[in-house]
Amino acid sequence: MIVTNKYYLITLGCQMNEHDSEVICALVENMGYIATTMPEEADLIIINTCAVRKKPEDKVASLLGKFASLKTNKPNLIIAVGGCMSQQEDAAKYLKNRFPYLDLIFGTHALPRLPELISEAGNRKETIIDSEESYIDREGLPVAHRGRFKAWLPVIYGCNNYCSYCIVPYVRGRERSRNINDIIVEARKLVARGFIELTLLGQNVNSYGKDLPGQVTFAGLLAELNQIEGLERIRFMTSHPKDLSHDLIETVKNGEKICEHFHLPVQSGSDRILKAMNRRYTREQYLDLINIIKEEIPGVALTSDIIVGFPGESEDDFLATIDLLEKARFDNAFSFLYSPRRNTAAAGFTETLTRKDKEDRLQRLNDVQNRISKEINESLADQIVELLVEGESKGNPEILTGRTRTNKLVHFKNSENLTGKLVQVKITETRTWNLIGELQLKLDNKYV
Ligand code: SF4
Repeated sequence: MIVTNKYYLITLGCQMNEHDSEVICALVENMGYIATTMPEEADLIIINTCAVRKKPEDKVASLLGKFASLKTNKPNLIIAVGGCMSQQEDAAKYLKNRFPYLDLIFGTHALPRLPELISEAGNRKETIIDSEESYIDREGLPVAHRGRFKAWLPVIYGCNNYCSYCIVPYVRGRERSRNINDIIVEARKLVARGFIELTLLGQNVNSYGKDLPGQVTFAGLLAELNQIEGLERIRFMTSHPKDLSHDLIETVKNGEKICEHFHLPVQSGSDRILKAMNRRYTREQYLDLINIIKEEIPGVALTSDIIVGFPGESEDDFLATIDLLEKARFDNAFSFLYSPRRNTAAAGFTETLTRKDKEDRLQRLNDVQNRISKEINESLADQIVELLVEGESKGNPEILTGRTRTNKLVHFKNSENLTGKLVQVKITETRTWNLIGELQLKLDNKYV
């Protein structure tokens, strides 16, 4: 009787990590493992970690604590920790010392070596660490896409910006753009397999092409992808304001497949704090940029990231951030408490706020943003919007959920499962975080 080994994978962190997990799935499935959703059934457990804040790192410790007993009952169980936390040598050593039953610790750069690392881990008693700084090209690695009609498509890895609070350049390395033809070929293959929405990924997609020979730009890449027959929607994240070109704004405006949504982290509304963060733009430059985007692309959605409680942030700095929110009127903003990251420039800055101070400011900021998000959604009442239906809502199969081109979440009633279809829905009710609608039209032109 052939026993098939099972693997259990947990992914923490960003979209790039989710894509890395799709690569990990393909690599271990090519080794003969099949996926299980039950850790107690697994012969291989992998945690794909995130190091962007303390919280996801603490989550790793609690998960590993939970898995210790499984190892006692199943000594041949392989437990591996990958991702951004493992890419840092000191964090990898910390994991090895604190969780001696770990079999493998592998960084983001070790993905191409994962199959051999897992085979080796199965035959060795001591913990294997691979947090190699140097990276080998990961082009051509297999990907087990989780979706059926939406897929991630990385276009650039790493980041050269070294914002003072950010760990990413230390765990993802310097910027490496993928060859434009490789991206287009992969996109065509995905569309041929039925994917109709592609999200282009990069820590800073606006830097795409700067390290490639010739005049290759992100706007140029988008314009090429916009030609692909059968592709319905193109999204991209994340943009850095200092590199966002007018060319890109024009391309989004004129590209019928390119969704009208920019995720443009601002982080703070105070020039003093933006300087300390090494963001290399001023609040005025940022506000000018988003006003141009709004003028050029009416109805465009803008979302952002904000850090609250950066070392030295005074009440005036904080009020400058609130004032920027009022002026920018983001559709949504993801706000986080400042979390010092080892080895970053800001890790050496003196913290001036208590956790309570930070949490109070976070609440005040979210109250303002919630009001703005609600007002913007209210302006969509009675509008007819195009949705890509993502599936049935968890609680009720008769309620379907989809996203607009501006990335708004809309729920609507329908007996037929229209998952993966493009439909038109009339907005009948608005809320802070989502909308309710009525189905008008299936975009394969058959009226309901
Ligand atoms: S742009 Fe700044 S915040 Fe974004 S990944 Fe790069 S260093 Fe981090």
